[in-house]
Amino acid sequence: AGNVLVVGAGGVSSVAVHKMAMNAEIFGKITLASRTKSKCDDIAASVKARTGVEVATAALDAMDVAATVALIRETGAELVVNVALPYQDLVLMDACLEAGVHYLDTANYEPEDEAKFEYHWQWAYQDKFKEAGLTAILGSGFDPGVTSVFATWLRKHKLDGIRQLDVLDCNGGDNGKAFATNFNPEINIREVTADAKHWEGGEWVISPAMSHKVNFDFPEVGPKNMYLMYHEELESLSTHFPEIERARFWMTFGDAYINHVTVLQNIGMTAITPVMHDGHEIIPLQFLKTVLPDPGDLGALTKGKTCIGDIATGPAKDGSGEKTFYIYNICDHEECYAEVGSQAVAYTTGVPAMIGAAMVLGGQWKAPGVWNMEQLDPDPFMEMLNTQGLPWQVHELDAPVDF
Ligand code: NDP
Repeated sequence: AGNVLVVGAGGVSSVAVHKMAMNAEIFGKITLASRTKSKCDDIAASVKARTGVEVATAALDAMDVAATVALIRETGAELVVNVALPYQDLVLMDACLEAGVHYLDTANYEPEDEAKFEYHWQWAYQDKFKEAGLTAILGSGFDPGVTSVFATWLRKHKLDGIRQLDVLDCNGGDNGKAFATNFNPEINIREVTADAKHWEGGEWVISPAMSHKVNFDFPEVGPKNMYLMYHEELESLSTHFPEIERARFWMTFGDAYINHVTVLQNIGMTAITPVMHDGHEIIPLQFLKTVLPDPGDLGALTKGKTCIGDIATGPAKDGSGEKTFYIYNICDHEECYAEVGSQAVAYTTGVPAMIGAAMVLGGQWKAPGVWNMEQLDPDPFMEMLNTQGLPWQVHELDAPVDF
């Protein structure tokens, strides 16, 4: 069985580590390391109580490459699963190269002072990983991650290429708070306040954040307003599937959420450049994160379902003309909480992180180089989604999307 080092001890990490422990034949040894060791210990205690599995814990500042290399060597890990923050991606990739181990993450690298959501920094590691004979898997969460694998699966089994792709991310959950984000508030608010951007006719089309709204009737959730947004998988999907004419990403938000973000943005609280406050430099968005509810505490309060998936249109494999498919997963917040003590947004990210790690350790996805999810064989991953708590369904639609 494999030996893994998980870095970061937040909401996503907790789910990934619980699910790894539930698959002990794949994950024989698990070490969990993060900046605040007590958070690792809390997760380890919950894992022990729920599954009986021991998880080793350690304090680690991932920005310190030498410390990470030492910990990798000490644990004998073959794979580092990065579920810390996007700022740690490159330093952890450096540490993996130095220690000679594989790498996996769930979000693209971000410089702290810029919100770019671009892959070029990590794609630049392609040759280094290839030459070292090591595998790096980028974006093994739900979106990016499962939504990319969904697109690849449709392209392998149903469509001879994708002409139009819409990724639809619906969270129909309610946590009873006036305003709270479902995962790290700093990263979440960076995403939603960035310009919207989609791929169309061979170029990026940019529009103001939250300016394009569509009401969509989601299966098992019902009608919700969703907004056009930029999301990092649009870059990798339009690169790796060059036939795509239009690729868009949509996320649902309630009116109260939009109102809060609008006010926070108008008054400067979402800024990511430092300001002087009382003689100290602070970053407004980081301060905002401090005062907002911790997404990890929302699990017990959140009710409802998420529905995340892709609608893809393209020429049918069987030569019957153009077809449109909707492929999605439905996840229930309360069921996730009962199983692993987390709400569905952490669950839908942590489970795919575990599955991606299983693919690397099991050899199905072991290939020297740096890969986005859609570049790898979707079948073994799709099988595990069905058995690990994220079952999917695919339906043919009568026509391409009309919005
Ligand atoms: P959290 O903020 O809950 O957790 C982040 C963890 O990383 C914390 O434990 C934090 O430690 C730790 N950390 C931060 N900096 C360092 C460092 N320098 N060294 C070691 N540990 C560090 O985040 P989430 O669990 O919500 O998200 C985790 C990742 O998953 C993020 O990258 C996020 O973007 C991504 N994500 C991806 C999704 C997808 O579908 N692809 C969806 C949702 C999230 P401390 O507690 O000390 O601050």
